[in-house]
Amino acid sequence: MSDQDIQIEVFNEGWMGSEPERTCAGCGRKLSKRELIRIGYDGDFEVSFWKGIGRGVYVCPNWKCYQKAKKRNAFSKSLKTNVPVWVYERIESMVEEKLKETGKSCK
Ligand SMILES: [Zn+2]
Repeated sequence: MSDQDIQIEVFNEGWMGSEPERTCAGCGRKLSKRELIRIGYDGDFEVSFWKGIGRGVYVCPNWKCYQKAKKRNAFSKSLKTNVPVWVYERIESMVEEKLKETGKSCK
């Protein structure tokens, strides 16, 4: 490994450490982007997770935060559009999947 390779590695690590934080729409906690589910919706027929289309809302991957955010109408407010039922359904299945992944469930 040359000196140059080592420098690049160190640089990458530093970049990972300074990951931007986002606020959960449910509990209001600030977490790194990777720990939250990002919901992007362009007000049409497209809903995305993780990668961004349009505006994005972030929630912790658990039911408490999701339901809190839904109750407060945080999705519609943040996305500046009326969020239809099917989008909520997509978000719900995403939360469920994420909970299976992490082994936590508190539905
Ligand atoms: Zn939360």
